[in-house]
Amino acid sequence: MSTEGHKILVVEDEQEIRRFLRVSLEHSGYRLVETASAKDAVVQAATQQPDMLILDIGLPDGDGFEVIRAVRQWSTMPIIVLSAHGQEQDKVQALDEGADDYLTKPFSVGELLARIRVALRHAAKSPAGSASQFTVGELEVDLAGHVVRLSGKEVHLTPTEFRLLAALVKHAGKVVTHRQLLKEVWGPHSVHETQYLRVYMAALRQKIESTPARPQHLRTEPGVGYRLAMG
Ligand code: CA
Repeated sequence: MSTEGHKILVVEDEQEIRRFLRVSLEHSGYRLVETASAKDAVVQAATQQPDMLILDIGLPDGDGFEVIRAVRQWSTMPIIVLSAHGQEQDKVQALDEGADDYLTKPFSVGELLARIRVALRHAAKSPAGSASQFTVGELEVDLAGHVVRLSGKEVHLTPTEFRLLAALVKHAGKVVTHRQLLKEVWGPHSVHETQYLRVYMAALRQKIESTPARPQHLRTEPGVGYRLAMG
């Protein structure tokens, strides 16, 4: 899918980061709308109809969480939050409020563009048209057929391991919070049972990672959740 020409609303009050975003995104063919204000962000999101939102959490006249809540009342556009290093609680809250992903400052152009591509790809996918086949590197997952292969060889997963992997495949490339995973795999009554995740993630890594101690596919996002890497 070509992502060129998409309009992105950038909400950031730090001049230097805004300039970095403008140069990087315009160079890649995106169109930009910019603001430094939380209140203006909601207005611009409604009137400019951007394809996605890149949003700083700390803004002079409010915070990014308010912007997410306001925009989520009428739009499902992808929202990527910009967060400072070590602010895991902010990231989790932003994702719980409805953000799609986050970038930790300082981030590279490569990371920025990769996150944007993933977010736009997920946004373009209708539920009916979502692919049931997922391949990255030597890992193949056939969701409809319930088959997982590593280097062409079938891997046997327990039903729970498969549900966990399937939940990550559905959000491939995006972070999924502990809470989201627990809810999707074990149900809404289990959202605090983070030890389930640790146990099953370790088992899954043993089966689908060539070096489980240094996972290439099932990445840990410290303090937030997990991400199935796209490459
Ligand atoms: Ca800021």
